[in-house]
Amino acid sequence: MTQGDKDISSLLSTCREIGMRKTKTLVSTLRVLASTRQPVTLQQITESPDFGVNCDPATIYRLVTKLTENRIVRRIGFHSRAAYYCLRAGHCQDYLICRDCGSVEVLNIACPVEHLEAQIAEDSGYADVEHELEFYGRCAACE
Ligand SMILES: [Zn+2]
Ligand SMILES: [Zn+2]
Repeated sequence: MTQGDKDISSLLSTCREIGMRKTKTLVSTLRVLASTRQPVTLQQITESPDFGVNCDPATIYRLVTKLTENRIVRRIGFHSRAAYYCLRAGHCQDYLICRDCGSVEVLNIACPVEHLEAQIAEDSGYADVEHELEFYGRCAACE
């Protein structure tokens, strides 16, 4: 078992719980997503050397959609443009998205609203309160 396989073994057991079979495509897709903090497009996933020549983009799309529906993966960005995908981390993930080209950057700032989660949970009675911030602008390449 390699380091990468160890990283995704808990993801694979979550996938098993929701009835996903452990296929080579699923393992490779999770590996690509686990290897980077930067959100990736479906095209970037399918271009991973992990898949070799046997890559079927339609299968990968179905897998990623199922992972997204089950909140293992988060989809970011405008629906009309190439969507970006990343694993949901335990902590908040805040992003900066270009309005023109749709590129996504992970924000490395101290989260401005994290402290609100506990307060909102207490006031509302909700459990597992979390948030996602998406900031929009125009990137340097699109200026
Ligand atoms: Zn841009
Ligand atoms: Zn945040």
